[in-house]
Amino acid sequence: MSAIVTRFAPSPTGYIHVGNLRTALFNFLIARKSGGTFILRIDDTDPERSKQEYVDAIKEDLEWLGLTWDRVERQSERLDRYAEAADRLREMGRFYEAFETPMELDLKRKKQLNMGKPPVYDRAALGLSDDEKAKLRAERGDGVWRFKLDQQRIEWADGILGDISIDAASVSDPVLIRADKQVLYTLASVVDDTEMGVTHVVRGSDHVTNTATQIQMIEALGGTVPSFAHHSLLTGPQGEALSKRLGVLSIRDLRARGVEPMALLSLMARLGSSQPVELRESVEEIAEGFDLDQFGSAPTKFDENDLFPLTAHVLQGRSLAQVKDRVLQAGVPEDQAEAFWTVVRDNITVLSDVDGWWKMFSEGAEPVIEEEDREFVAEALALLPEGPYDSETWGKWTAEVKAATGRKGRGLFMPLRKALTGQAHGPDMSQVLPLLQVIKAKQGA
Ligand code: GLU
Repeated sequence: MSAIVTRFAPSPTGYIHVGNLRTALFNFLIARKSGGTFILRIDDTDPERSKQEYVDAIKEDLEWLGLTWDRVERQSERLDRYAEAADRLREMGRFYEAFETPMELDLKRKKQLNMGKPPVYDRAALGLSDDEKAKLRAERGDGVWRFKLDQQRIEWADGILGDISIDAASVSDPVLIRADKQVLYTLASVVDDTEMGVTHVVRGSDHVTNTATQIQMIEALGGTVPSFAHHSLLTGPQGEALSKRLGVLSIRDLRARGVEPMALLSLMARLGSSQPVELRESVEEIAEGFDLDQFGSAPTKFDENDLFPLTAHVLQGRSLAQVKDRVLQAGVPEDQAEAFWTVVRDNITVLSDVDGWWKMFSEGAEPVIEEEDREFVAEALALLPEGPYDSETWGKWTAEVKAATGRKGRGLFMPLRKALTGQAHGPDMSQVLPLLQVIKAKQGA
């Protein structure tokens, strides 16, 4: 049993989307590849914004994708652990109360920027005497609690970005507890990662500065610093920010649009890496070929349209047994389901396209007949025997039509296909004909 432990730590304040799916997937794959442990950690220390419905939705989405977790942890149930860590930081002199209002902080930042300095918290609160603090507390209520960074360089070998070095003096001492006593994610995450033995943390590159401060906090609390890797953020196909569109790129939205889980996972496990996107049949297979070293730091372009050809590909590989419920739901009689699926499987993009196909077979297609083909089609349809048809019918019929009209090749087949199915493309006509319950062109002829 490998000692690798990873976690996916969503805040239940919304649905998961393609952006955080990458984080979930990478952490899942690292754990699965090594036979390690994958923890689903619900970051719900914000009681106002965290909602149970989102916790349920996150689980449902991950289950649909097949990203199963070994255990669930909830930060809201571990508040005593965070309080204990806060006490320890206080005892060490690494934690201090600060009373600036947001407006005062904003003013300080503006002044620093005007002077061409980085907007780093000036640590004024460190100079307050006990009397001054008591006075401020009486006037303003409790302050926030900041972690006192050691002002030296913080370095780590990032699993994706390579060697990182950040000057702690250029970073504000992070607020870990708000004035209303709410524990913020940074403290909770550090305590959890340490106590849960997390060995590898992969998250978005928007967390790089957090990582720097968290490394110092983990060291202060006597924990082992995990390996960190920061994946690039997704952009739209043109490199545009994706943040505004993430609502419609939620996992549940993509599912509703018919995207198949293996299409989504196969794309996400390779997008932004030097390895080509290849459709895989199972998460185990994806895990086998997964290699974090292959990912680059450049923003990763994501085009949702890429999911549909992959989805079509997934469906082509499905047997009737795997889709039978949905096929029957479309109204296909059980004894025709096998023939129907064999015919349409290669001609659909998403599974719900079976509805359109069955409607076409059962109700008949609006015939498309070009003016110059009108006579030819009428003559051909007169030669078409009454059904039911079998797989030989098309061949025999078109041979007869050919003999009678002298037409051949495309000029023979295309007008008949369009008259019977209303489309210029589609499955093999010898398989289509037996499934056609109604031939409108024949009725009209
Ligand atoms: N709840 C944090 C987020 O969603 C977790 C970040 C992390 O992986 O540490 O951004």
